[in-house]
Amino acid sequence: MIGSCLCGSVKFEVKLDRLKIYQCHCSLCRKQTGTASSCGTVINTEKFEWLSGEGNVSKWVKDTGFTSHFCITCGSSVPNKFRGSPFYWVPAGLMDSQNIEVAANIFVCEAAKWSKVSTGVNPYETKPEIENLIELLNGNN
Ligand SMILES: [Zn+2]
Ligand SMILES: [Zn+2]
Repeated sequence: MIGSCLCGSVKFEVKLDRLKIYQCHCSLCRKQTGTASSCGTVINTEKFEWLSGEGNVSKWVKDTGFTSHFCITCGSSVPNKFRGSPFYWVPAGLMDSQNIEVAANIFVCEAAKWSKVSTGVNPYETKPEIENLIELLNGNN
């Protein structure tokens, strides 16, 4: 599956036919995406390959460690590697394929009151341990 940012500078391949993703409803993701929730997944580095634009990525780090990686040309959220672990975080909306299924909802306690986005699938009030989340997204790894 191929993914790219809005302007097309950043392109990557995920070597899977189908993705399981989670929706994060936290207030930080809301600011970062400008939408009610972020949709993303976690991909083993072996299944991820940059095709172009890795050098066109910048990042902003909040003092708490929350990090936003984005294309410096168009501002789209882009994949980034977890510090110290063999996984990439990948924003689901960048994928061209729609072979994508929601497997979990996290930070449901912070969900926007105005949103109609469902939090029904595997809801977590805050977040599961990262190992549990990776297991839920297991089809990806
Ligand atoms: Zn771009
Ligand atoms: Zn979040």
